[in-house]
Amino acid sequence: MGITRKSGYEIKLMREAGRVVALVHAEMKKIIKPGITTKYLDEIAYQIIKDHKCDPTFLGYNGFPATICASVNEQVVHGFPSDRILKDGDIISVDVGATYRGFVGDSAWTYPVGEISDECKKLLEITEKALFAGLSKLKTGNLLDDVSGAIEDVANENHYGIVRQYGGHGVGSKMHEEPFVFNYRVKNSLILKTGMTIAIEPMLNIGCDDVEVLEDEWTVVTKDKKPSAHFEHTALVTENGADILTKIPE
Ligand code: MG
Ligand code: MG
Repeated sequence: MGITRKSGYEIKLMREAGRVVALVHAEMKKIIKPGITTKYLDEIAYQIIKDHKCDPTFLGYNGFPATICASVNEQVVHGFPSDRILKDGDIISVDVGATYRGFVGDSAWTYPVGEISDECKKLLEITEKALFAGLSKLKTGNLLDDVSGAIEDVANENHYGIVRQYGGHGVGSKMHEEPFVFNYRVKNSLILKTGMTIAIEPMLNIGCDDVEVLEDEWTVVTKDKKPSAHFEHTALVTENGADILTKIPE
């Protein structure tokens, strides 16, 4: 299909999908605390998406069984919601997608559960910073590699591992469209154009870069079992920079 540039009408639909994804995150932020299960978070997310005339994009995607990916501590991405009870000091990455009239919004955020260590606080702060560093380069005429490089620089300054096997992507009528967005420089010569819609999503680790997939064939964990964080927004490329479609309301 190649890289698509969205029409005004398509952007309108994506903005609505993104708004609903942001509503889910606003609620997650409110309700995540020690003692609740990740399955509970999934049920709440499903209900919000349905209440706003959207469909949960992840549910059934390549057989994925839930509305959200719930990845705790050393889990990087693609964790299944379950009866696991969140405890004080955990961190949880919630990744969620909503589809509105055929168009997708995709966003992930890592949340503290109760009181977390200073080490984890810094991981969350820096991974979010890496996301916004990437977004700051998402502008008409820039190279896609500028986005990747900005993320890499923030990770390197803080001596964090960068997950290499997964990254950002074009978004539109499909959740995963071209181009793939590396979270480190790859000498990609692709120039960003107005109307491209792209999910930027750094995944940074306190320890090494390496990850592996568990026996459930989905859950990705760090090889050294150290914590990992994941922050993602879907954004529209404009001449004035990134227009974030999944912005979480204040
Ligand atoms: Mg994504
Ligand atoms: Mg996502």
